[in-house]
Amino acid sequence: MMSREIQAIASNTAQVPPTVRLLGTLVKAVVAAIVISLALASVLLVHIGHAQDETAAEASERQYSGLIRLLSRQLGSHVRDYTHWDESVERLAASYDAEWWDKNAGAFAVDSFGLSFSLAVDGSDRPRLATTPSGRRTDLPVELLTPSLRTLLAEARLRPASATGAEAVATGIVEFEGGLHLAGAVLFLPESEEVTNPDPQALLIYARSLPDDIFVEVAGIMGSPDLRRLDAAPGRGTFVPLVLADGSSAGVVAWTPPSPGRSMTSDVLPLVSAAFLFVAALVAFFAYRARRLALALHADERARQELAARNQSILDTVGEGIFGIDQHGTTVFVNPAALAAIGYEVGEFVGRDPHPLICCKLPDCSRNSVEDCPVRQVLADGQARSAADEVFVRKDGSSFPVEFVVTPVKQDAHVTGAVVVFRDITGRRQTEEEIRYRANYDALTGLPNRNLLVERLSQELKLSRRENATVGLLFLDLDHFKEVNDTLGHEAGDLLLRQAATRMHDSIRETDTVGRLGGDEFVILLPHLNDAGAAALIADKVIAALGTRFDLDGHDAWVGASIGIVVFPGDGEDASELLRNADLAMYKAKEAGRNTYRFYKSSMTEYVLARRGLEMDLRRAVENGEFVLHYQPIVDLRDRRTVHLEALVRWRHPQRGLLTPGDFIPLAEETGLIAEIGEWVLHESCRQLAQWRAMGKTIDVAINVSGRQVPRDLPPEMIASALAAHGLPSSALMIEITETVLFNDSPPVRGWLNAVRELGIRLLIDDFGTGYSSLSYLKHFSLEALKIDKSFIDGLLDNKADQALVRAILAMAKGLGLPVVAEGVETEAQMEWLYAHGCEYAQGYLFARPVEAAELDIPVSR
Ligand code: C2E
Ligand code: MG
Ligand code: MG
Repeated sequence: MMSREIQAIASNTAQVPPTVRLLGTLVKAVVAAIVISLALASVLLVHIGHAQDETAAEASERQYSGLIRLLSRQLGSHVRDYTHWDESVERLAASYDAEWWDKNAGAFAVDSFGLSFSLAVDGSDRPRLATTPSGRRTDLPVELLTPSLRTLLAEARLRPASATGAEAVATGIVEFEGGLHLAGAVLFLPESEEVTNPDPQALLIYARSLPDDIFVEVAGIMGSPDLRRLDAAPGRGTFVPLVLADGSSAGVVAWTPPSPGRSMTSDVLPLVSAAFLFVAALVAFFAYRARRLALALHADERARQELAARNQSILDTVGEGIFGIDQHGTTVFVNPAALAAIGYEVGEFVGRDPHPLICCKLPDCSRNSVEDCPVRQVLADGQARSAADEVFVRKDGSSFPVEFVVTPVKQDAHVTGAVVVFRDITGRRQTEEEIRYRANYDALTGLPNRNLLVERLSQELKLSRRENATVGLLFLDLDHFKEVNDTLGHEAGDLLLRQAATRMHDSIRETDTVGRLGGDEFVILLPHLNDAGAAALIADKVIAALGTRFDLDGHDAWVGASIGIVVFPGDGEDASELLRNADLAMYKAKEAGRNTYRFYKSSMTEYVLARRGLEMDLRRAVENGEFVLHYQPIVDLRDRRTVHLEALVRWRHPQRGLLTPGDFIPLAEETGLIAEIGEWVLHESCRQLAQWRAMGKTIDVAINVSGRQVPRDLPPEMIASALAAHGLPSSALMIEITETVLFNDSPPVRGWLNAVRELGIRLLIDDFGTGYSSLSYLKHFSLEALKIDKSFIDGLLDNKADQALVRAILAMAKGLGLPVVAEGVETEAQMEWLYAHGCEYAQGYLFARPVEAAELDIPVSR
């Protein structure tokens, strides 16, 4: 993967863009043109230079020839001056006067004209007088006349004798005494007719040496210092052949002609070349820069395209909806996720203002103004914004909650648009809604829970303060719910709670709120209450609604409701204080016998505080074993003989002294401490029984077991092991249970009753007549006896109703074959009435008060 990417990148780099290729070709063409131009210019320059040099050479040749001609003419004019003269004819041609020679044509002329020699030759070609720079000679040999000299002489004699101008002189190059000389020869010619030339063939010759003399001069005039005579033509340079007068060759005269062309070429060509090279270098440099620039631009363009492609693929694949707008608020792009969310096609969305289409609907779906639209605000001030509680509208008009971020797009600190990234948060909203519901509503009943209740109550209190309104609060606790739960099971308990919730809900006004605090505790919030009396009416209504039979999947159940009422203002300052006080009032209702309501009074607070103290004391008492059992006999009315004893628990409170069950058993039941107390009572009575038995006192004891203890707090195994631990037969122990235990016909309770019976323990029904009216249970269980509640006995002598009830109970018991014990018999009259009406057993102060074991006088069995 990696290497393929690298290859791709490499191949991309190798692809030179066409602009760069074109540029390269252009540059090559320009450079080639420059090189060719340079070459052509050089050739042209060389050619021009060469032509110039040739011209210069020719000019130097012409100059040389001209100079030689000039010298020849000078020489000719000098020699002619000395021959075309009467005196010279007379003195030389006639007499060869040596003296005159020296003064005129001899030494004088050689010195004056710079001659190499002057020579007088007579008509018979005899040299007569000669002067060289070294002096005059007279006796001259004929050999002095070299062939070239002789030819020159012959040529001069051919010239007309009368001629006086240049045409009279013959000039040419001659050999004389081993050297080369430019010589001019002329015949003597008298000026006047009086003088006759005796020897018309006599000649005078003036010569200048070559090259030593003339060439140096010529070379100086021509500006060619290397002008020289050579035997043969040189390889280079300019030369002219030296031809002697007789036509024989004497080598050449050579010199280096001026070469303006070459010097021009050598001067100009480097400059031109340098200029061309400079231009070429400049072109190459700028071309190189241009190529790099073009490549960089190309790379930039490619990078931009790649980035755009990458951005596009990101836009296409991200889950968030993204669209961009320009500075006028018109959509310029949108990604597929956004289109899928809003239900538009690209063409319907791009190029349009998103605001009226989808944007900026407030949570209640009312349209937001353009000025309030966060997207537009970003365009206005260039500050990024986010929103979490906006709503977007789909094409079909439906809406969905969104969360979005708007980021400005800037160029040089100038806002040119904005990008909106949004997310449909419907799912999250639902989850939040669910979490909120769970946090505020009770899962079982669907009623508001404590949180929501406290919140609503607090709101109502605020409102009430503002409007001077009255708020009522009912704190409700179901009576006997725990028993239903324990005996029929939790499912039945849940069902009961749901039904109770419905009943409560049906008993209140629309504006009221029922909530569940937990367990079997409910709260009813009554806003806008006319007066406290109205709260009492509602409480009555609720109690009545809950007081009827519950059908729990085929099982009948009855519960009641104890309600505490608080009214605001007055009973508390805030929600928690009101709830606390309503709770106290509810306890008071419980204490008042349940199934009723109580208004909160400030004294309740003190009571409850005391009660809380008592609870702590009770826990300590359980740990410290502060309990004691008192025993009260049950007597046979026929002979007042004790048939068995009832164990009644007492609490030796360190400060408050001896407390009876009424002071602490309800609290022990509420707090669950009854389990420990019950266990202690079981063991203590067994211990006492065993002690008596050891003393030979065979007596049976009945212990009290409350509904809260059955079945879990006092399992049959515990009873069996307690008996076994003290070596007691099960017949020694009796258990008093209330009607409610029997009435609770649930499998666990029935199982407990059967197990206890199977152990051989006798069961008595305590407080008979105060519980439930169904009597059918009496025949289902084998019972030892019924104990008629003290409340019936109290009014037995005055109250006809009580008499009728007791009579009925006695009759029914007799019918079932059940013995009856009358509780709380205090007077002989009561005893007699009971005895007269068939009651066989009784318990009461008349016979004995409950006392400690030590105080009892139990006869030793025989
Ligand atoms: P109970 O089982 O009906 O017990 C009889 C109550 O009547 C006892 O009250 C007894 O002192 C009282 N009593 C008996 N004869 C007379 C009388 O002639 N006049 C008056 N005024 N009262 C009389 P006590 O001891 O205060 O017990 C009250 C109740 O507490 C008991 O009623 C029983 O239900 C409960 N109880 C006592 N001990 C225990 C216990 O160990 N466990 C449980 N769960 N409950 C207990
Ligand atoms: Mg009892
Ligand atoms: Mg009783």
